[in-house]
Amino acid sequence: MEPIIHFVAPFAALIAAGVKPRKSFLLALLGLAPDLDAALLIHRSFTHSIIVIFLAIIPLMVVAYRIGRGLSTCMQALFVLISHAIFDFVTDYTPILWPLDTRGYWLHMAFMVHVSGSAKTALYVNLLTEPSTFSNFQSMDAPLFTGEGLIISAVLVFPVLLKLLKPYFTKNKV
Ligand SMILES: [Zn+2]
Repeated sequence: MEPIIHFVAPFAALIAAGVKPRKSFLLALLGLAPDLDAALLIHRSFTHSIIVIFLAIIPLMVVAYRIGRGLSTCMQALFVLISHAIFDFVTDYTPILWPLDTRGYWLHMAFMVHVSGSAKTALYVNLLTEPSTFSNFQSMDAPLFTGEGLIISAVLVFPVLLKLLKPYFTKNKV
């Protein structure tokens, strides 16, 4: 999945859940964190494992619980990081269960309609697997965003911008 979606989708979801824009923005940046493995020339490594993500966040949750603050922030961070793994899981092979299962999984699904005189539908759901090697790549081409991702992001962010700018519009009316 392209980075812009990894950022904008959880950002919009957190805003919709009532999280303040500044906090939502900072938390949504975590949505990009699993792809930092590309800096080590490895794509879709253990940083995409939901087990690794849980193991990274659970100690923080325990600390937050003990000190009596920050637990909801930890839950929101967990949501953002898991969303990255799930987005990648439905778009390409992703080692979501590493190290318990070292294979990459890809949930490939589509609900298709065929129209010619009458309409027929077909649901395709395939769980594909391949070994995860975590080997270094020599070079990689990946879109930071596509036209489709850019438009989806704009649609998700536009209502947030309207809400943020509303006080300025109403100020001018007074
Ligand atoms: Zn990724």
